[in-house]
Amino acid sequence: MKIALIAHDKKKKDIVQFSIAYENILKEHELYATGTTGQKIMEATELKITRFRSGPLGGDQQIGAMIAVNDMDLVLFFRDPLTSQPHEPDISALMRLCDVYQVPLATNMGTAEVLLKGLEQGFIDWRLLAERRTASQTN
Ligand code: PGA
Repeated sequence: MKIALIAHDKKKKDIVQFSIAYENILKEHELYATGTTGQKIMEATELKITRFRSGPLGGDQQIGAMIAVNDMDLVLFFRDPLTSQPHEPDISALMRLCDVYQVPLATNMGTAEVLLKGLEQGFIDWRLLAERRTASQTN
């Protein structure tokens, strides 16, 4: 599965702790992240992550582009609800695309834990079927 990890600045410590706690599950998957989030997680774990641009510089849109071709299976987005973000339109667009393509999206750590436990149990395996369906439609 392809998993995107994104955290706003005040949530970066949380996503690093989360990644350490769930490293065993995360390491089984293909990981992507916005620039700074990915860097901080890689510094604290053994995880290999494909990093995009920093969120305010287009990283959210790069992840959105993967979602738009149904090439992302899960998004863990630790949002800061108390600070306004200069790239708010990009954030809204990313979340909207998750809804368009039925991509499971966590916007806080509580939901992220449930999603990763569900992932481990196979509850998100239907995404693999969706990918196969998309591939057969485009071929
Ligand atoms: P960052 O981007 O990981 O590069 O900080 C996240 C964001 O602010 O959207």
